[in-house]
Amino acid sequence: MIQNDILLKHLSTVMDPELGVNIVDLGMVKNLTYNDSEITIDLALTIAECPMRNQIESEIKRKLKLIENVKEVKINVVAMNKEDRAALMSVARKNAREKAVPTQINTRTRVIAIGSGKGGVGKSTISTNLAVGLEKLGFTTGLLDADIWGFSIPRLLGIEGRLEANEEKKIIPYKKGRLEVVSTGLIAEDEDTALMWRGLMLSKALEQFLFDVAWGNLDYLVIDLPPGTGDIQMALGRLLPQTELLVITTPQPSAQKVATRVADMAKRSFIPLLGVVENMSYFETSDKNKYQIFGKGGGDKLAEKFGIPLLSKVPISETSVEESENGIPILLQEDESPTKNALQDLVTKITKVLPPVSDETCTGRLAKVLEELEADQ
Ligand code: ADP
Repeated sequence: MIQNDILLKHLSTVMDPELGVNIVDLGMVKNLTYNDSEITIDLALTIAECPMRNQIESEIKRKLKLIENVKEVKINVVAMNKEDRAALMSVARKNAREKAVPTQINTRTRVIAIGSGKGGVGKSTISTNLAVGLEKLGFTTGLLDADIWGFSIPRLLGIEGRLEANEEKKIIPYKKGRLEVVSTGLIAEDEDTALMWRGLMLSKALEQFLFDVAWGNLDYLVIDLPPGTGDIQMALGRLLPQTELLVITTPQPSAQKVATRVADMAKRSFIPLLGVVENMSYFETSDKNKYQIFGKGGGDKLAEKFGIPLLSKVPISETSVEESENGIPILLQEDESPTKNALQDLVTKITKVLPPVSDETCTGRLAKVLEELEADQ
């Protein structure tokens, strides 16, 4: 038997993307029942036909299915009555007033954290190529190198120098086209400041990156997490409830085992798992023979264990490594290669699994709610 307060705790990590407040506080969760691994919810929406509805419903399902023994989630959409709408708007207004230190990340930004059980599995390589690929599709994309001590994004992108602050003392990200990059490697001035960062708790450093950076209006934010589990995932779940985790592993059983811990931790921090990427999966020769140099099965097993998709098997790249180490990410290299194709395919899949939050169709909703509210009074 799952207690209602546990269900509500999970549901309170689902945000209304327009109002920036969770659906429980907004009074959108009405009846909630749990019966034999099936949850039924009456979800009250201000305007039932709003396209945002699909997004909220799918977020609810993803979050509730994180709970053990939950197999089915049924959602009945009901229309809010006058009192409900008035209460919702007062919560939204109160929240807008009280949110003294909001993160600089728009609630509509899709946040993809990239995690791995240990270092050296290609987490930073995947993060960089994913961000670059999303940018190439025309999305404004942030790339946050949260691997505070082991930062490698500046090297992988071939950028250096120091980030400046604006008049409001917010750090201005490095910008190239629609890509915005922040990394400790672009902040620490010398060994001493680098040491100071080392003394910071990881979660505190993450807070700084989310509060004190003048991020633009991002469609996507890709976060390269430090390897392993811990503080930073907990902090992410709390600070950016829209975060989803992509787990990177290699084919060996040992790598898969440590990656399992990361995925477990994410569940406990209410972070849905977006999928698994098996990197360095195989080596493909020019005559298309595949060699599974590092063994096989790690990605499949991990995906199966958590019931999430294995989004890609990225082959080992021979030719592109040198260039990518010199600052040209594989996706931007001219030569076609199996690795480049796999990464491109991964980017496309991500935009399908986690499409950007469309706002133009729904901006009218808030106006309409306010209008109705004024008319009601
Ligand atoms: P992590 O962030 O997990 O520590 P990196 O992305 O820094 O891992 O990758 C570790 C090393 O492996 C780097 O030298 C990188 O160029 C290399 N690498 C990553 N993915 C591949 C791949 N698919 N094929 C070949 N080399 C790779």
